[in-house]
Order: sequence, then C-alpha cells, then structure tokens
Amino acid sequence: MKNPMDQSTIKRINRARILKVFRDHEIIQKKDLAEGLGLSITTVTTNTRQLIEEGLIEETGIAESTGGRKPVVFKFNKNARVSFGVEVTPRMVTLIMTNLVSEIMEMVKFSIEGMTLPQALKVVETQIDRLLENHEIEKQDCLGIGLALPGSVDDGQKLLLNSPNLHVSNFSFEGFEADCGIEVFTGNEANLAAFAEVILGTVKPIKNAVYVSITDGVGCGIISNGEVTKGFTNSAGEFGHMRVSDGPKVCSCGRTGCWELFSSERALIQGYNENAAHAISTLTEFFDAYAQNDHIAIELLNRYIAHLAIGIENILLGLDPEVIIIGGEMAVFLKSILSSEESKEHRLIFSEIAPLSAVLGSSLLPFKAMFGF
Ligand SMILES: [Zn+2]
Repeated sequence: MKNPMDQSTIKRINRARILKVFRDHEIIQKKDLAEGLGLSITTVTTNTRQLIEEGLIEETGIAESTGGRKPVVFKFNKNARVSFGVEVTPRMVTLIMTNLVSEIMEMVKFSIEGMTLPQALKVVETQIDRLLENHEIEKQDCLGIGLALPGSVDDGQKLLLNSPNLHVSNFSFEGFEADCGIEVFTGNEANLAAFAEVILGTVKPIKNAVYVSITDGVGCGIISNGEVTKGFTNSAGEFGHMRVSDGPKVCSCGRTGCWELFSSERALIQGYNENAAHAISTLTEFFDAYAQNDHIAIELLNRYIAHLAIGIENILLGLDPEVIIIGGEMAVFLKSILSSEESKEHRLIFSEIAPLSAVLGSSLLPFKAMFGF
C-alpha cells in the first residue's frame, strides 16, 4: 500500500494546483476553482485568503451574478513576482525578466566574446540589478535566476560539470548566487528548451518528442510522457556528439566525426567562411547570400540538410518519438526552406518559441516549486 501523504505535502500540492489555474486563467470564480480542482470551498477559501495576503491574487467584482449571492471572483496579480532567465552561449548572453505568466518584461542581449565565464556573470549580475531597479522590484519579489548552459549540468549542486563549448568544467554557480543575493537554478540548455516546449509551446498535447536545439553546437532534449528525461548521469540527449562521419575534423569534445560538426550553426558559418571571398558571422548573413543565389551558400546548405537528416534519422530509429522539434534560430530559416513533404517524412516540426525556448525554459525554473510544473 502506498504511504498516505502527510498534511503539509497535500497543502503544498493544493496550493500549487490553485496557483497553476490562476496562471492559466488570470480571472476565476471561487466556485469554479473548487469544482475544477475537486476541492472543498473551505480549502479554496483558506488558500485564497493566504494568496491575497501574499499579494499574489486579489478579489475583483467583475463577474455577472446569475441571481442569488454575488459570485466571488479572483484576479491573478501576474506581475507580483518575477524571475530571470539567462542563456549562455560561447558568443552571447541572452537575459530575460518575466512575470508569473512568462510574459517577457525585459530582454537584454550582449556579446561575451573574449570574456571568461566569471566576467560574463559579473555583467549578468549588473544587468539584473539595473532591471530590478528600473522596475522598482524588491529582491524578495524575484523568485530566482535560471541559467541555461551548453553542457552537462548537475542541477542539484548548481554545477556546470563539463562544457567544451565554454571551455569550463566543474564550474560552481554558488559564488554567483551569493553575489546576486537571489536563488540560482541551473539546467542544460536543450533540456530547458524542451521543458519550455512542454509548458509554453504549441506542442503541449505531444507527450513524446525530441527537441533538437541548433545553436553554436547541437543539443537535444528528450520529452518522454510529457516530461524531460535527463538520464542516469544527467546527460541524456547528447546526440550532437554521436558519430556520423569518419572524417578527421576534431570536435570541441575532443573526438572526431560528431554530428554537431556538420549540423550546428557554426558548421554552416565556418563552412561559408572557408570557401567564400568575404566572411560572415551570422545566420541572417548566410541566408541573405542563399536568397541571392550565392552558389557557395546553396551547396553548403544542401550538404548541411543532408547531414542534419542523418542525425534525425538516427534519433527516429532509436527513440521513435511522435515528432522532432527543431529549435534555435535555425528553426526560423529551415521552416521556410524545407518543403512540407520533407518535414513530414522526418516528423519535423519547428518550435514556435524559437530562438527563445532555452532562455524561457531557464526563466521557468524559479517558478517550478510555485506552480508544481
Ligand atoms: Zn563532439
């Protein structure tokens, strides 16, 4: 027999379920809340009273009465708390501040080229202080800072175990947390992007999917039964480093023939720069050249798509997901280039929150306990 849950666990779960309804609906009647969740009016009243005290909801009188007593209606104060999401890539940091319903209130991007990770984090800390001050938000109303990192992460220890792309290993974020004075949460960028797809994306009803995040590298997040699967050592989904070639080119992980050497953004940009007369640094520049029938860009993209397909076929063979979600800035371009037949053949769909999936996923981490995601 299962152990009965203790009272405090039940209370915590009820509170999270109620808050989740507020997150989804913003305005709701007390009786709908009780009926929808199968809770007694007393339980709902105890919780709503507490949430009003905490400033998370307020009573509002806009519902039409259908006769009898005027219905009690609550409104969610979606701006009562905020969280920060930070995506760190080798070249850029993207920082967002969101409210409780994941609306982006601020977004800052800055280059970290030539900076060490501690230097980049110092800039993040300064930007966070500035944003809180601009919006007159107290630190206690900020529920945390989520970090989306390119590499394997020990979430519990707030440790970046290994990131070949950032050239760090066993990097602890406890110092950063102490400097900011705000709780810090960490996660692998592809896993967080997959998490964002589950909570915010348009693929919500899909329970089994693989998210392929194409950025400077290629990371994947595996969604199984509606949850992100991290594996025994927290490193599931490292398909970017599966061998797809016996070529001699060395990957950032130290091995050769890895999929990301052929299917990352960097592969496309470097490939172009090795062959063309002028250098480019962004995908937009690459696809501008492609649109102008630049033969180097056309040839490279064809080769790129062929390599992308090899990896995707391997994932389909191994995991048989309902769909493969393509994320990263690349999703925006590939969506317009691949035909619907090609996409269908490989069960591809394109993220509608790309290229912000990972940073949105990181901004959700501080809300996990509150809403019970
Ligand atoms: Zn590799």
